[in-house]
Amino acid sequence: MISDLKGTFSKISNNNKRSAIREILKLTQNPEIISFAGGLPAPESFPVDALDTIVSDMLREEGAAVLQYDATEGVKELREVLLKKYTDEGTQATLDNLIITTGSQQGLDLVGKVFVNEGDVVICGLPSYLGGIGAFQAYGAKMAGVPMDEQGMSAELLEAKLEELKQQGIKPKFIYVIPDFQNPTGITMPESRRLEIIALAHKYDVLIVEDCPYREVRFDGQPQRMMYDLDNNDHVITLGTFSKIFAPGFRIGWILGPKDVNEKIVIAKQSADLCTPTFVQKIAVRYMNSGVFETNLKKTIDLYHQRRDVMLSELEKHMPEGVKWTHPEGGMFLFITLPEHMDAMDLFHKAIEKKVAFVTGNVFYCDGGGKNTMRLNFSYVNNEKAIAGVQRLAEIIKAEMQV
Ligand code: PMP
Repeated sequence: MISDLKGTFSKISNNNKRSAIREILKLTQNPEIISFAGGLPAPESFPVDALDTIVSDMLREEGAAVLQYDATEGVKELREVLLKKYTDEGTQATLDNLIITTGSQQGLDLVGKVFVNEGDVVICGLPSYLGGIGAFQAYGAKMAGVPMDEQGMSAELLEAKLEELKQQGIKPKFIYVIPDFQNPTGITMPESRRLEIIALAHKYDVLIVEDCPYREVRFDGQPQRMMYDLDNNDHVITLGTFSKIFAPGFRIGWILGPKDVNEKIVIAKQSADLCTPTFVQKIAVRYMNSGVFETNLKKTIDLYHQRRDVMLSELEKHMPEGVKWTHPEGGMFLFITLPEHMDAMDLFHKAIEKKVAFVTGNVFYCDGGGKNTMRLNFSYVNNEKAIAGVQRLAEIIKAEMQV
């Protein structure tokens, strides 16, 4: 090994920390543990049989072509299919506005790469998806957190933050939001809040990065229009993905954004991976055109709907007074707030001993807050385990409250 490996690593690499969630998830690998910790879709929701047919038909009919490199922007037919889904809903966009990424995680990374210089400020919710925060911080972003209420990022506090930064001569690069069934809280922004945030983005001349992995996984309530559609003034870049509505193993996501932004992103993507795998993109085209996408998505939504209901009713039955939780209308997560004085990290270790796991909420707070919060995933664990897991968790919380 060379003498100064640390000094040889780049500044960014030396600054990068291991993801706190990955560390937590390592502790939850034991199969005896009932884990509400991960963010995994239910494997039962993956369309294995349909894909079996699609892949063999595709190889027989298209042969080597599906194994070739393709455009960095993505396979044209896939971009067209996705674009049509949006334009059918009324979105004003052309093919230039839509490019394929290798999961929306790559979308977040590329957004960081094309916008963030070291020390730039990026605004996010308190709490917010850790993978987003990590992607921006990797390029040296300073994250400025804005507290959320039950309708998402507070517009009032966002304005206060934007004003405070303005007084210091700082213009943030963008506002990062997850408007539908947010990770980690499960909260959805109503249209009024979306409009308020867009108005602030216009007033302070800041971009919005709208991350929408869960948008289509809605169980009840009314679908909300995307911020991309509500804005129509090139202030919004939207990230989409197949991970929660088809299969995360495909690693297919996309960016719906202004043409000028997409051009820069394509250049950045070229040096990242040349193109998202052609093979999976071609499968996705056939899958979308087969009609199975809609029926399978409906089954997935029904499954998660039922799992959410079970989790909510078990929480209601067993959680002691003083513990609160969100009631998401879709997605995969809900968020628990314990009484102020409690620390979810202490509970975590006790929970692991009792073979139940969750993610402590503090990892999603870029300001180090959220010590008395925890995230529970309801998409992965079956009903029987969910019932046992919530009971165990409630017992641990009750015992800790009496200390
Ligand atoms: N954004 C959010 C809010 C997420 O929760 C996730 C995955 N859990 C991603 C982006 C990344 O998803 P993928 O790369 O699988 O599309």
